[in-house]
Amino acid sequence: MGDPRGFLKVPREEEDERPVDERVQDWREIVEHASAEQVKAQASRCMDCGIPFCHQGCPLGNLIPEWNDLVYRGRIGEAVARLAATNNFPEVTGRVCPAPCEASCVLNIRDEPVTIKTVERSIAAQEFAQGPLVPRPAQVRTGKRVAVVGSGPAGLAASQQLARAGHSVVLFERDDRIGGLLRYGIPDFKMEKGILDARMEQMQGEGVTFRPGVAIGQEVPGEQLLHDFDAVVLTMGARAPRDLPIPGRQLRGIHFAMEFLVQQNRRIAGDPVDATSRPIVARGKHVVVIGGGDTGSDCVGTSFRQGATSVTQLELMPKPSLVRMPANPWPEWPLVLRTSSSQEEGAARDWAISTRSFQGPDGQLTGLETVRVTLDGGKMQHVAGTEQVLPADLVLLAMGFVGPERGGVIEQLGLVLDARGNIRTEASGATSVPGVFAAGDVSRGQSLVVWAIADGRRVAAGVDAWLRKPALAKAG
Ligand SMILES: Cc1cc2nc3c(=O)[nH]c(=O)nc-3n(C[C@H](O)[C@H](O)[C@H](O)COP(=O)(O)OP(=O)(O)OC[C@H]3O[C@@H](n4cnc5c(N)ncnc54)[C@H](O)[C@@H]3O)c2cc1C
Ligand code: SF4
Repeated sequence: MGDPRGFLKVPREEEDERPVDERVQDWREIVEHASAEQVKAQASRCMDCGIPFCHQGCPLGNLIPEWNDLVYRGRIGEAVARLAATNNFPEVTGRVCPAPCEASCVLNIRDEPVTIKTVERSIAAQEFAQGPLVPRPAQVRTGKRVAVVGSGPAGLAASQQLARAGHSVVLFERDDRIGGLLRYGIPDFKMEKGILDARMEQMQGEGVTFRPGVAIGQEVPGEQLLHDFDAVVLTMGARAPRDLPIPGRQLRGIHFAMEFLVQQNRRIAGDPVDATSRPIVARGKHVVVIGGGDTGSDCVGTSFRQGATSVTQLELMPKPSLVRMPANPWPEWPLVLRTSSSQEEGAARDWAISTRSFQGPDGQLTGLETVRVTLDGGKMQHVAGTEQVLPADLVLLAMGFVGPERGGVIEQLGLVLDARGNIRTEASGATSVPGVFAAGDVSRGQSLVVWAIADGRRVAAGVDAWLRKPALAKAG
């Protein structure tokens, strides 16, 4: 522990965010880097607990007290190495992770956890500032070939771990750039994309072959992969969106959140928006985002930057409490009202509200009819007399995802699914088909980047163990 009295002397101080009126004018990241002195002072607050509860929160098992101490002592090179021991992409989690580690930090008992995410981001930034990331290629090659399908955080982490274990990895991605939701879902104002390119360069140096623009299950059938590779890892995400099949759904002006977010991410990257889809732009429009979660928030921030006239975000569930309820004590994730940076930019928010129909003459959306709802014995009931019409020119559906997309590789390989429609896996990531593994949202359902990285690492260990098994053991 750096300073045994650090947490008594130094208050928690988060990174600054750029002022709202400035940041909505551009697409750059809104969080400003904390100075080295500030990060060191924050790291000094870590108590190096006998039982570090922060570990309970972190799916990656990050060695948090160790790197807090190293940062406090200015031993950044060692901190980079300790962080890299458990996390392939700290530059990503340091930006977009909701930091369950901070929620379970012992200092959160009095609402002042160590700023673990800030320290992580700072370590990653200092590594990136030293120049190109140094590849760590395997010393011994195994001669085994692994196909990874889908280049989100799960596929990237699995690929890097497998390459470092000495296997030849080909990462297939149907989009024209690598990164999955890191590239095409999460907006630049939360995470600029240059860090992905730098990491890809490192992975290429470690022997990973990237094959963007290849949809497995279409151009290349799933069975072909099984024939050409010794193992196949499916990390295709859970991208089938939840729809709202109510009257008026067919009107022009109603889109899934991801259609909107992908287009904007492509524009920022200087790529053409898919010629087959109509441009979706919020400029001059009353925008209503249906769904109060993170995807909805990203639509809110994107709409403001595009110049929307107004942005309203609707949530079906009741407004959460401002403080923890007794039934939800530390170190559990606090179920409290959160306000995202995008919501802070001026969104009107409403809870316990349901949409009954979309309205609009001539096929063009002009508004939506809503009604208040209440939970009665666990069932959602409409409150009579609370119907109202909300003007809207653009509605973005951000009500979550129902699971992996169907009608492709899952059926071709005959994979067994779980009760929620995700690919069923064992702890090693093995699916019902020998030699086929799955990880990330495709087997967990839509989740978090940190879980996808953790799953990617876990499946890589499972594949590695399977590949090293004698052939007879595999057959039987
Ligand atoms: C808008 C949005 C914002 C989010 N923000 C955050 C956040 O701030 N913090 C956080 O922790 N989590 C966030 N999440 C959740 C997080 O992004 C996901 O949990 C995570 O990306 C899952 O990783 P994955 O690798 O399993 O899948 P994905 O990132 O979805 O990647 C799957 C990849 O597989 C590709 N693919 C699919 N089918 C095929 C095929 N047949 N052939 C080839 N390639 C294929 C897809 O094109 C995609 O690139 C967000 C999610 C969304 C939708
Ligand atoms: S729980 Fe908090 S104070 Fe304790 S070791 Fe982890 S980060 Fe440090």
